[in-house]
Amino acid sequence: MKALDELTFDNRFARLGDAFSTHVLPEPLDEPRLVVASDAAMALLDLDPAVAETPVFAELFGGHKLWAEAEPRAMVYSGHQFGSYNPQLGDGRGLLLGEVYNRAGEHWDLHLKGAGQTPYSRMGDGRAVLRSSIREFLASEALHALNIPSSRALCVIGSSTPVWREKQERGAMVLRLARSHVRFGHFEYFYYTQKPEQQAALAEHVLKLHFPECREQPEPYLAMFREVVERNAALIAKWQAYGFCHGVMNTDNMSILGITFDFGPFAFLDDFDAHFVCNHSDHEGRYSFSNQVPIGQWNLSALAQALTPFISVDALKETLGLYLPLYQAHYLDLMRRRLGLTSAEDDDQKLLERLLQLMQNSGVDYTLFFRHLGDEPAALAVARLRDEFVDRNGFDAWADAYKARVARDGEYSEEQRRARMNAVNPLYILRNYLAQNAISAAESGDYSEVRRLHEVLRKPFEEQAGMEQYAQRPPDWGKHLEISCSS
Ligand code: AMP
Ligand code: MG
Repeated sequence: MKALDELTFDNRFARLGDAFSTHVLPEPLDEPRLVVASDAAMALLDLDPAVAETPVFAELFGGHKLWAEAEPRAMVYSGHQFGSYNPQLGDGRGLLLGEVYNRAGEHWDLHLKGAGQTPYSRMGDGRAVLRSSIREFLASEALHALNIPSSRALCVIGSSTPVWREKQERGAMVLRLARSHVRFGHFEYFYYTQKPEQQAALAEHVLKLHFPECREQPEPYLAMFREVVERNAALIAKWQAYGFCHGVMNTDNMSILGITFDFGPFAFLDDFDAHFVCNHSDHEGRYSFSNQVPIGQWNLSALAQALTPFISVDALKETLGLYLPLYQAHYLDLMRRRLGLTSAEDDDQKLLERLLQLMQNSGVDYTLFFRHLGDEPAALAVARLRDEFVDRNGFDAWADAYKARVARDGEYSEEQRRARMNAVNPLYILRNYLAQNAISAAESGDYSEVRRLHEVLRKPFEEQAGMEQYAQRPPDWGKHLEISCSS
């Protein structure tokens, strides 16, 4: 285990130079204090979890102190926001403090979000509020626990610094960890500003650090693009399978590594609703739950456009064509497992679609339905779940087809079925109302709820004694919380 001053830095992105990022120092928060830290994320840096409680921890991640080897930089990028190209983006309120490598030799970017103004802040104050910092922290760690690739979060530091949003709030910082902070928008920036040399240097950097196996291929850049397509297809399949709605799938929020990135007004579905729009500012529903699938492809084609200096249009198109079939294969595979099936049949897609339609019509809780489906043998489980559905005849017909399908799937005991299904069907997810409860307590200075919720969400598949209240459907007030982009 390492102490805080024993981190080893190797700032490879900073060394790319001033065309890629600008040196900016963090603006400290007043009276920084630890809100919550993730032991699991600390372990990625070999840090002793006990150091989170020391004053120097809050000083470092509240912007007061820096390691001598840190090189805080604001990265430049651009991107398509809600379908329109915005040439003026970049780290407006976050800084890449540096890259730290752990004993296993893995590099992790340390990114401090909410660290003050930068040349890319436009009209913004460079700050993040406590509410949104807690949401990013909980979501990053919860997604990771669900085996959904995501940036990670080391801690949230709260403060007394006033920050104005719709009302006065308090400033906070999240320390985000990721293997890379390169976004689709980085490639778009150098493409649209017509800087081929820098664009090649960026591509070479990403290839060397993150896709070394692609360098062995006859066309390394094409192999890299293919890998990005594959990873995003797999990622979005997981979002859809687990009911995660990102909310702002702009190309500047898409990671080149295919991890969930940049949390804003995200939400997990409570009731299943394919048309759910979690972002209150998304009036047209561009980023609705079901639109995430085609938007994934749209974003990849925006990246493809930026890669035209390196790769032929035909090869890009052909590779883009892999996205949808790959997505469908991953998604169906995950959903078969969520249904407890171990084999594949041609009609499984239809069986699933009928179920989702029934859930949609009756507003059935998406997470709990699958969890309870695995609690008991199929016949008993569907008999119990029947009451959730308004269209009983419709559900009965589905249940008969499901029972027959389970019977054809193979012989296994009740315990085997439960263990297999519980391993893919979480009991606890980050419901908006749970986050809201934790935030309300934290805003009045009580961090115990945020810490408890984080602990529960670390093991989403395991039933935890005394934690029944975290597995409940939302109360009425918690069903339609409006979350805006102003974070
Ligand atoms: P987001 O919607 O959080 O992905 O942010 C889009 C762009 O706006 C990014 O370039 C952010 O850095 C910038 N931005 C968001 N909020 C702020 C803020 N409070 N101050 C400065 N820049 C911001
Ligand atoms: Mg962003």
